[in-house]
Amino acid sequence: MTGSYRDLVIRLTAERHLRGSAEYRHLLDPEAIREDVELLHEAARRVARVVFGSKVYARALIEITNRCRNNCLYCGLRRDNRSLSRYSLDTATIVECCRRAHDAGFRTFVLQGGEDPAATVERVCSMVAEVHGRFPDAAITLSLGEWPDAAYEAFFEAGATRYLLRHETRNSRHYSRLHPPEMSLDNRLRCLATLKRIGYQTGTGIMVGSPFQTAGEIAEDLEYMADLEPEMIGIGPFIPHGATPFACFPPGSVDMTLRLISILRLMFPNANIPATTALATLGGEGRVKGILAGANVVMPNASPSEVRASYSLYDGKACRGRESIEGLDTLKRELDAAGYQLTFEKGDFKCMILNHR
Ligand code: SAH
Ligand code: SF4
Repeated sequence: MTGSYRDLVIRLTAERHLRGSAEYRHLLDPEAIREDVELLHEAARRVARVVFGSKVYARALIEITNRCRNNCLYCGLRRDNRSLSRYSLDTATIVECCRRAHDAGFRTFVLQGGEDPAATVERVCSMVAEVHGRFPDAAITLSLGEWPDAAYEAFFEAGATRYLLRHETRNSRHYSRLHPPEMSLDNRLRCLATLKRIGYQTGTGIMVGSPFQTAGEIAEDLEYMADLEPEMIGIGPFIPHGATPFACFPPGSVDMTLRLISILRLMFPNANIPATTALATLGGEGRVKGILAGANVVMPNASPSEVRASYSLYDGKACRGRESIEGLDTLKRELDAAGYQLTFEKGDFKCMILNHR
């Protein structure tokens, strides 16, 4: 037997963890009544207020390449998608994007891309060192997929201090349904353990409503994250892409995504949790809804505008207006209306959560 929904929210707020899968699944119950779910969001919002005040942290997202050696079944950048025009930005262009973002006030650059077969450790390092040298007051976050341990060490030496790599699912059976046989959950988990050991602020996370996902698997994801103690957590709904094997699967639910943001905020009071682009793409006012559910980060798009449409992880991906650095004023106004202020502070929060088990 699990406690009532309200009891679970109160206990999760106080203790930062629940007792096993059934209790987490109860919080995700699609039949839960609205008032109870609102209580969950309120609790998470209050915790975020205590830790971050009314600040929402801005990071500039620069999509440096859409070439990828991998074939993840859910992703529009997968190598078998021949209908995509491919690009990789050279270092000068990346520096130029950083310059624009820096001029607009940003002090964190998130450099994300597919696993570009042309990207060697040396090339990535020289690009990171160049950005680091030119903008020493900015933090560099990488999100470039799986690499050998020595590569992660070298990127860190070159000046990257944060790394985002969603584990996608902690269940190996589920993992193997989302990825081709040459990819493995073990390798993904090895990468994440290495990133933590090196001292990166490490981000992980999942897509909500990915094909074949069950509430039990989400509970496994939560338990894994409780063990890993990530400093950043990316949670967005799955959105189908027409040129992938998952084209006909339905998108993930905005409601469940918001509930998970709130649960994770209660588990990790000082983690950096973005209101993701996927959430913004699906839910009207998605960014603000994410903030009101306990998220504290937004990542407007700062890629060159001519390549944005080609970085099509999923159909309809928002990349303009308030989802981009050109629309920063609109985003600021929206946050302001909801009682939040956009800040460019780097917000270095070391994971404080105690391991409860
Ligand atoms: N290649 C890197 C970074 C780019 S993909 C990597 O895989 O980590 C960044 C994230 O986009 C992935 O972690 C995945 O969770 C998300 N993504 C990919 N396809 C998606 C889809 N169809 N719907 C929602 N998110 C998706
Ligand atoms: Fe490549 Fe990342 Fe897309 Fe997988 S999710 S195909 S690794 S870009």
